[in-house]
Amino acid sequence: MNIAIIGGGIIGLSSAHYLQQDGHQVTVFDAGDGLDNCSYGNAGYICPSHFIPLATPGNVKNGIRWMWNSRSPFYVEPRLDWDLIKWGLLFIRSATSKHVRNAAAPLRDISLISQQAYIDWHESGLDFGYQHRGLLEIVQTPAGEHHAHETVDRAISLGLVDTEWLNKDQLNAMEPGVRMQARGAILFHCDGHCHPNHLMQALRKQLMDRGVNFRWNDAAIGVVSANKRIHTLRTQSGSHAFDQVVLAAGSWSGSLAKSMGLSLPLMPGRGYSVTVENNPLQLKHPSILVEGRVALTPLNGNTMRFGGTMEITSHQTPPRLSRVQGVLEAVKRFYPDFEVPIPTMDKVWYGYRPCSADGLPYIGKTRQQENLVVATGHAMLGLSLGAGTGKLVAQIIANQPTDMDIRPFDPDRFG
Ligand SMILES: Cc1cc2nc3c(=O)[nH]c(=O)nc-3n(C[C@H](O)[C@H](O)[C@H](O)COP(=O)(O)OP(=O)(O)OC[C@H]3O[C@@H](n4cnc5c(N)ncnc54)[C@H](O)[C@@H]3O)c2cc1C
Repeated sequence: MNIAIIGGGIIGLSSAHYLQQDGHQVTVFDAGDGLDNCSYGNAGYICPSHFIPLATPGNVKNGIRWMWNSRSPFYVEPRLDWDLIKWGLLFIRSATSKHVRNAAAPLRDISLISQQAYIDWHESGLDFGYQHRGLLEIVQTPAGEHHAHETVDRAISLGLVDTEWLNKDQLNAMEPGVRMQARGAILFHCDGHCHPNHLMQALRKQLMDRGVNFRWNDAAIGVVSANKRIHTLRTQSGSHAFDQVVLAAGSWSGSLAKSMGLSLPLMPGRGYSVTVENNPLQLKHPSILVEGRVALTPLNGNTMRFGGTMEITSHQTPPRLSRVQGVLEAVKRFYPDFEVPIPTMDKVWYGYRPCSADGLPYIGKTRQQENLVVATGHAMLGLSLGAGTGKLVAQIIANQPTDMDIRPFDPDRFG
């Protein structure tokens, strides 16, 4: 088949990987040069431990509490925008304890499929700095510790049995020589991490070498369809005929979906990262500073990436240095000896997570267009779930049974 993929982030490239492997003729269209989308500057976690969706009762509470504080880790920029209001109402409606419980198993399943796919890529020689050192979730407060114990129990009951609580001494032993203000941490042995920039570069090169066609700076602008089938994809360069279309345009997918007649509630969740070379903080393990909502990733050599904050905003709102300040201040609260000056904006990376309204991705076919597969909405987990999503997309297009039950990811669930 002749297949168009809209979007050259990790979801688009992973889909291209499996579709090309299945013998299809694949063309990836991207609005930009594909060298700096959300899939590059992220924390690189490949993390089955993340089985809690973004839509939780706690996040609704924090979102409301922090609504007026642009330095807070979870910030919803108040604005009069119908899509935002609709998304917000669906988010609040979804954020129940029952939803959190029901979402855990599908998130675990797709994570494990995806992690195995990344391990296969790594073992087949794709060089993207994959390492399996686990992930620490470090807490500072009694409430954080209480929640951590619950999370350990929940992880074990979900089959992630290699999860343990480390007290302060055990945590210190994991990171010798580093002064830390913490009560303890969860250690998820199941998690791995990679260098996301290297992943994107290596995958892109591999796909080009294998004959995938890339159309950079050629944004999709709509489709022409008849009898529920897309027969033409319209892009900036003209009209193109394809047998199948995959919508994987990350946080931009919502407006494109609308032009295809779909309702795909999606908001950009901007996050920031700073990558410090010759970093004085010598950490061995990727760590989340829970109360600070910051992710630290030792990349290669002595390079450390500090990332975080979730800012539900528009693509047009200028980035805020105050949020990076919030990230680095949180790091200092956990590591008092940490000294990294607030960088200037040109040294700061930011990207837009595609946030669905219930924290689960949208993956699958739609009622409106028979030959369209949607693959987006992965929010904080797009890198982790990328390879697995690509695999599922290829199975859907091949009309094969998928490796897991994908009904919870139905793109029509709000339509
Ligand atoms: C600070 C931070 C840390 C993160 N850490 C992690 C982590 O550790 N682990 C994890 O799993 N996830 C993490 N994430 C989330 C992850 O980065 C995203 O979920 C993921 O990159 C989304 O990938 P994507 O392919 O859907 O979108 P993108 O990477 O944004 O790619 C979408 C592409 O679509 C293109 N596009 C847009 N409109 C059009 C159009 N009209 N036509 C054609 N192309 C179009 C864009 O140019 C872009 O290249 C993090 C995110 C941030 C911000």
